[in-house]
Amino acid sequence: CGIVGIVGRDAVADQMIEALRRLEYRGYDSAGIATLEGGRLERRRAQGKLANLQAKLVESPLAGSTGIGHTRWATHGRPNETNAHPHATARLAVVHNGIIENFRELKQELQADSVVFETETDTEVVAQLVSRNMDRGQKPVEAVAAALPRLRGAFALGFLFAGEDGLLIGARHGAPLAIGFGEGETYLGSDALALAPFTDALTYLEEGDWAILTRDGAEIRDAEGRVVERPRQRIATQA
Ligand code: GLU
Repeated sequence: CGIVGIVGRDAVADQMIEALRRLEYRGYDSAGIATLEGGRLERRRAQGKLANLQAKLVESPLAGSTGIGHTRWATHGRPNETNAHPHATARLAVVHNGIIENFRELKQELQADSVVFETETDTEVVAQLVSRNMDRGQKPVEAVAAALPRLRGAFALGFLFAGEDGLLIGARHGAPLAIGFGEGETYLGSDALALAPFTDALTYLEEGDWAILTRDGAEIRDAEGRVVERPRQRIATQA
């Protein structure tokens, strides 16, 4: 129900928890984060309150400086830890707001291609679809570009890739998503409130846009893959 992503300089887990707390008002049943630990995807997820996720992070901290986080309002699949986001394959992790309407067809197609699913969510098809594109030799940007036109529904997505420190991809299709610009750090968030502690310089993605985030900023592309400029705004939100 809420997305956050940070391409940061130091460990980002605490910042992501802070951003997720600011998304609590939307309601949620579980939460999770993923970061890159020496290039490897590591996740911590918990059912219930954000405090449960924090307790897990105290027990087994995450030190990665590129990460994604999520608060979930379950639409497909029970609100348990297995179905909590981020969803992951060996290649990538994804957080998702909204619904993938055609997930059953995509799941059948992937299962026919020997893909084994771990969860009951609509979201996992996104992870598996992009992952299969990468199995076929595509790089992260190409793999996401090829997968997005196949997804139906209203959603926002955030992707993190194994071995790709300093890279996140975000996509907006019927659910809001903003990019925040900091000093050598770039952020992804469902709304300005989530990013207020980090920056007041924001760009809202427009319908069908997707963006490649690095520490230096973001390249925004439209649904046809053309690089586009979107206005940067100063948002006066109390941090
Ligand atoms: N449809 C997804 C799920 O049920 C995402 C729900 C959300 O926006 O939190 O896991």
